[in-house]
Amino acid sequence: LTDRLDDVFRKIRGHARLTEENVQTALREVRLALLEADVNFKVVKDFVDRVRERAMGQDVLKSLTPGQQVVKIVHDEMVELLGGEARELDLKASPAVIMVVGLQGSGKTTTCAKLALKLRRELKRKPYLVPADVYRPAAIDQLHKLASQLDIEAFPSTTDQNPVDICTAALEEAKRTGHDVVLLDTAGRLHVDEALMEELSAIKAKTGPGEILFVADAMTGQDAVTVASSFNDRLGVTGVVLTKMDGDARGGAALSVRQVTGKSIKFVGTGEKVSDLEVFHPDRVASRILGMGDILTLIEKAQADVDADEAAAMEKKLRKAQFTLEDFRTQMRRVKKLGSIEGLLKLIPGMSQIRKQLGEVQMPEKEMARVEAIINSMTKAERATPKLINVSRKERIAKGSGTTVLEVSQLLKNFTQMQKMMQRMMGGKGMPSMPKMPP
Ligand code: GDP
Ligand code: MG
Repeated sequence: LTDRLDDVFRKIRGHARLTEENVQTALREVRLALLEADVNFKVVKDFVDRVRERAMGQDVLKSLTPGQQVVKIVHDEMVELLGGEARELDLKASPAVIMVVGLQGSGKTTTCAKLALKLRRELKRKPYLVPADVYRPAAIDQLHKLASQLDIEAFPSTTDQNPVDICTAALEEAKRTGHDVVLLDTAGRLHVDEALMEELSAIKAKTGPGEILFVADAMTGQDAVTVASSFNDRLGVTGVVLTKMDGDARGGAALSVRQVTGKSIKFVGTGEKVSDLEVFHPDRVASRILGMGDILTLIEKAQADVDADEAAAMEKKLRKAQFTLEDFRTQMRRVKKLGSIEGLLKLIPGMSQIRKQLGEVQMPEKEMARVEAIINSMTKAERATPKLINVSRKERIAKGSGTTVLEVSQLLKNFTQMQKMMQRMMGGKGMPSMPKMPP
């Protein structure tokens, strides 16, 4: 989808006016691109109609070219389509019950463990894991293993118990032991079936969950949408977790699920590890789907300073991992004009992901000045090829910038690491902090 849309936008970028004709052409392409990405037909049609309506009625903003303007409208509408703001979990009850449902293999058990970890880490909650899939012998064991690995308590379910009884008893046990969130890992089937729905309805009636999260495998595309609808009709789902977004899912399911069910996507699974769960941010996903990281926002913000071509060139460099220290410095200088560095780091595609992986590295203004001084003291060749920088060169740079060899080394190390990660992120189809996307 990304490549496809890139082409579309490149074509219209050159135009000087938003005419009916070039909007039509662009929208035709957008429509095809969305359909190819497995977005539901009806969803695409409504979407394109809305964009057309907005595009035609609007004056071209002074700061944007017509091409950018169409991109912006498409982006804004896509954010809307994906659900606007990120939604929080309803955890008001005590204990709050979260029921996790979905087809077999969609990622329910893994998601329960991931959620429990997230709730403990970020909200300081005391979660309780409840295996309620008694049909597959290994299923209970799987959750028990994850629980002990995370040092989170789990209900000692066994396969001879009835799932409804398990959940009821587990809720009592959670109250008794002072747990404030209970995660019910329910059974799945290969297909939606009546017996399963009966069972899930009974569990819902007995436990009164504040959240019923439907887990959908993003790789299954349109099927995920159909299945989501059946679960929603029977159970009244409160939100969706889209798993396996780290694979080469085409992203279309994300766009359709919300539109068809009217339920927001709350989280996305981005890997097999227990920490691979991210809050779903519609704006970032929209950017990812449009293949721009948050570069669009960058364009908007920096309009006065940067012309679109320069930004496009920068983006290309990022994609090809030809991002050099020189570019890094240019970006830094621009940030100074823009204000917050945190803000800018968020805008560079994949960057916030990198920041997370580096462990919340902060870069205060003072540090930024030092980094700039170090880069200033390098030769052009050194900036382009940091490998050239041996010990004696490091000494020279340290002296020139009023820093130490250690600080120079540190910067080089961080930069190399960042480059590698960028390469991974741009090359990989992972979501830059969901667009494998930002925080
Ligand atoms: P369940 O049958 O719905 O409980 O599904 P499981 O939680 O057992 O997951 C099925 C498989 O999908 C397992 O191999 C998981 O490791 C894998 N899985 C779950 N979520 C993700 C994800 O976000 N990314 C990737 N790559 N794999 C996932
Ligand atoms: Mg399971």
